[in-house]
Amino acid sequence: MSDCFILLSAGKSKRFKSKINKQFITYKNKPLFEHALKIAQDSKLFKRIVVVSNKKIKKKNYKNIDVIKGGTERHNSTQKALGFLKNKKIENVYIHDAARPNLSINLLMKLKNNLKKNRAVVPYLNSENSVKYKNNNKINNLDRDKILLTQTPQCFNFSELFNLYKNNKKKITDEASLYINNNKKIKFILGDKNNFKITTLDDLKYLKSETYYGIGFDIHRLIKNKKLYLGGVKIPFHSGLKGHSDGDVILHAIIDALLGAMRKSDIGTLYPSNLTKFKNIRSKNMLTPVLKLLYNNNFSINNIDINLICENPKVSIIRNKIIKSLSDLLSINRNLINLKGKTAEKLGIIGKEQAIACEVVCSLSK
Ligand code: ZN
Repeated sequence: MSDCFILLSAGKSKRFKSKINKQFITYKNKPLFEHALKIAQDSKLFKRIVVVSNKKIKKKNYKNIDVIKGGTERHNSTQKALGFLKNKKIENVYIHDAARPNLSINLLMKLKNNLKKNRAVVPYLNSENSVKYKNNNKINNLDRDKILLTQTPQCFNFSELFNLYKNNKKKITDEASLYINNNKKIKFILGDKNNFKITTLDDLKYLKSETYYGIGFDIHRLIKNKKLYLGGVKIPFHSGLKGHSDGDVILHAIIDALLGAMRKSDIGTLYPSNLTKFKNIRSKNMLTPVLKLLYNNNFSINNIDINLICENPKVSIIRNKIIKSLSDLLSINRNLINLKGKTAEKLGIIGKEQAIACEVVCSLSK
């Protein structure tokens, strides 16, 4: 018997006034639903993970998940997932809304511990606001200490939940309601304030984040008989860039801009050119520890703007190739990257095609 994580990502997001479905908007560089999915995967608590979605999700892009089509309402989607899991020897299911991207492994562990002695465990928060209840035209005061605001994941013994759903005729907004309607016992545990739900576009605006900017510049000399790498890809050209590494000016300027925005000194400090171990290093490998630093310190990239300064090759011809490569290397959407071409009007070493330079500005959120 094993546990399953069900990620509900099929909602129509009626309160979220955007053309893109809420679950697929970009939040911290990733589609919203991927955040909770990654936490569930990283927790290693689940034998199965089922994503319920009405939009196509490429299963092969994610390790070890099943994707099934959702229903029109939330409870229809849950029911479909439970149907899919029937006869698959599931002991407990954790049902989570994709619109809660800040799920933590800590909360998952707490839920798991409580499931040992309970058949239904649901996280909640107390209300921070005073609460009134309107009944016809009369407004009543409610004791806010007795108000439970339920969160997800809501966790249940699979067969018990399956049977309750089978006999349910009512529209319900969460599984806890189903248990309450049937007078079944739920163990409520204190949830996590950070595990909030994104309901409206404004919720995203109010998510506090600080913005930082970084600037990077690099120049390398062009020499014959060397391969040219720009933005992590090989560019067909008669010369390449001289340097300790592959001389990729775009990646070097990006690294410096990212380090600058994080206030972590510069590329020369990270990769001293007198160290032989870095000799002939591919610049995309130099990017890896910088990205680790970025994610470990909770930064995300808002956008990157690049000026590539050279007479040749012509930027218009290589632009798409470079942007695609950068988008893959940085794991960000292509539309967050801009690449502009600039010549030096035949002036100086750049103008005489003896060097290529690059400048980059990036913006990060923390
Ligand atoms: Zn360089």
